[in-house]
Order: sequence, then structure tokens, then C-alpha cells
Amino acid sequence: MTELPAFPYHPDPVATGAVVRSQATCACCGQARGYAYAGPVFALEDLRGRLCPWCIADGSAAERFEAQFTDVVDDVPVDRLLKITGRTPGFAGWQQERWLVHCGDGAAFLGTAGAAELANHPKALTALREDLAETWPPAQIENYISALAKDSQPTAYLFRCRSCGTFLAYSDAT
Ligand SMILES: [Zn+2]
Ligand SMILES: [Zn+2]
Repeated sequence: MTELPAFPYHPDPVATGAVVRSQATCACCGQARGYAYAGPVFALEDLRGRLCPWCIADGSAAERFEAQFTDVVDDVPVDRLLKITGRTPGFAGWQQERWLVHCGDGAAFLGTAGAAELANHPKALTALREDLAETWPPAQIENYISALAKDSQPTAYLFRCRSCGTFLAYSDAT
């Protein structure tokens, strides 16, 4: 089996569903390499499901189609920003996806998470609660958190800082 390229900001895109097995011919390199990127593509052309992970990793797809795979990233230096938006598979959220940042760099996206998955990551839960506390009363927050689902909505998006290892999350729903 061909080994997928390394994505430091999205370490296992097959597990998260961003990269899938596919016989599609890549719109960039013209090869059918057995895998395609299934996540969002911000470009003029409709490229969803038509790019191979290798053309994302080496930046050729981003350059050729002026494409981005993530639109919103919290504040990071521009060289890192370009790696996250142009050389990293994005992920599909219910709303505009947002790449979380910690220690001055983009965090690694680990996938969607529900209440069960988040139970193992108390720091991520704390971050979610603090986020929600700005607008919601505590009882409503706990109801919402217990309703979080990995494959449904509302859902949380779990990240881990590449530098200090802290788990981070945000959540959304339609
Ligand atoms: Zn390709
Ligand atoms: Zn950190």
C-alpha cells in the first residue's frame, strides 16, 4: 500500500474522513493514486473529491488552482498560515470551519468528537465551557455538552497543540 504524505497539522486524515480511498483521477497531477481528499476546497473550480493528498502536501494543488482547504485560522505567522490553508487537508464542519491555534502555531486536528470522546480530554472540555459561558447559563451548557456527538450534531472539533500537547476544541451545529 502506498504511504500517504505526512501532514503535521492533520496527522491522520484517513481517520478523520478528510482523505478517502478513491479511484478518482487527481485534477492536479492527473494520476489515480488510490486516495482523494474529500474535505472542503475553496477555489473557483469545483475540486471536491478530485485532488490527491500528495498534491495537497507539496502545495501544487493550492498553487495551481489558487485553492485553500481551510478558510479561517486564528492568528498565526503567514508562513504557518499558508501551510495550514494550502498544504493541509481541511475538515468539514456544520458551520465555517476554524483552525485552532496554540503556542503561536496551528494545532494538529484530531477529528470530530462527542461527549464520550471529550470525557478523556478535560482541558478541551474546559475550553468549550469557557467559550459557551460567554452567552449561555451553566445548565444549558451542560445539556449541550452531553448532547455532543462525533458523527452527528452538535459536534466538537478536537485539536492538540503541536508544541505543548494541550488538547483544544470548539463546537458547532447547523
Ligand atoms: Zn495529485
Ligand atoms: Zn500549546
